[in-house]
Amino acid sequence: MLDSCGRRIDYLRLSVTDLCNYRCRYCMPEEGVFKRPHGDILSIEVLEEIARAAVGLGITKIRLTGGEPLVRRGIVELCRRLRAIPELKELCLTTNGSLLPELARPLRDAGVDRLNISLDTLRPDRFAAITRRGALDDVLSGIRAAEAAGFDHLKFDTVLIGGFNDDEIADFVGLTENHPWEVRFIELMPMGPCACWDKSCFLPGTTVLDRCPDLQPIPAEGVARRYKHQSYKGTVGLISPVSHDFCADCRRIRVTADGKLKGCLHSREEIALRGLHGWELENAIRRGILQKPQRHHLAERSSDTPRNMNQIGG
Ligand code: SAM
Ligand code: SF4
Repeated sequence: MLDSCGRRIDYLRLSVTDLCNYRCRYCMPEEGVFKRPHGDILSIEVLEEIARAAVGLGITKIRLTGGEPLVRRGIVELCRRLRAIPELKELCLTTNGSLLPELARPLRDAGVDRLNISLDTLRPDRFAAITRRGALDDVLSGIRAAEAAGFDHLKFDTVLIGGFNDDEIADFVGLTENHPWEVRFIELMPMGPCACWDKSCFLPGTTVLDRCPDLQPIPAEGVARRYKHQSYKGTVGLISPVSHDFCADCRRIRVTADGKLKGCLHSREEIALRGLHGWELENAIRRGILQKPQRHHLAERSSDTPRNMNQIGG
């Protein structure tokens, strides 16, 4: 379906929880989130119902996210149900990777096509510091488990943070030397806990090209500008929502774990889907697509959303 700016909306990011086993400093407060009463979070059945209605309106790709989607009870069953939707072309999941040692194989067997693993540093001490409670070894085991389960074209999402991991850019690019992986550098977006961080933390994606001048451009994919080192197997992506907004090419809508449809990550506008069924649900999703904002305003100010990233689904 087209939105009112003529953009084809075919990608749904569906958040399955706002809880997480990590507390990344830019994403969540240290104390975590208030654990909601069970009924506040969409059930597996309702998540499936929303996905089916969205697919009926032209969504062909769904990415499950959170919070950490792998802490959600029933996640494998949800994947199985979504994979059974005939018109759905791609089922993807974004994870911090820590629970992949147990879950990579069941997710693959349930029909998940692709995994993105978030990884901001390759140094154990920094990893513990940024996640406040994570261990890098768990994620490295998760990566091995994902490969063993057959997820061979993994993507890594690395949030670029000035003064934290910009000295590791070449190490991350080096991961693409012997693996058909894509390492994607994402600009830090001023929202939630990091909205007030010093401006030196917010680096443009082009920093990667300055540090690795051997990278050559290759065709873009979705919102990522892509590059490759001539002799490396994998690729490098730059996702630059702040310095190079890609709103004109944005094909996404989002549904939060508490059932609010958002046309834009950074907008305050939300449409409640909870309790809607059949044509009422379909109409609400259609309205959300038509009302998708033309653009965000991150280049001029912080995000307009009062939610932290874990409460939307990055
Ligand atoms: N827990 C999963 C994970 O970390 O992959 C999925 C949810 S997380 C909110 C999704 C992505 O959003 C992660 O790659 C995370 O690094 C990114 N993210 C969170 N806050 C961000 C911010 N302020 N700017 C840019 N990316 C952010
Ligand atoms: Fe959790 Fe992902 Fe947010 Fe880190 S970025 S706190 S792993 S939801």
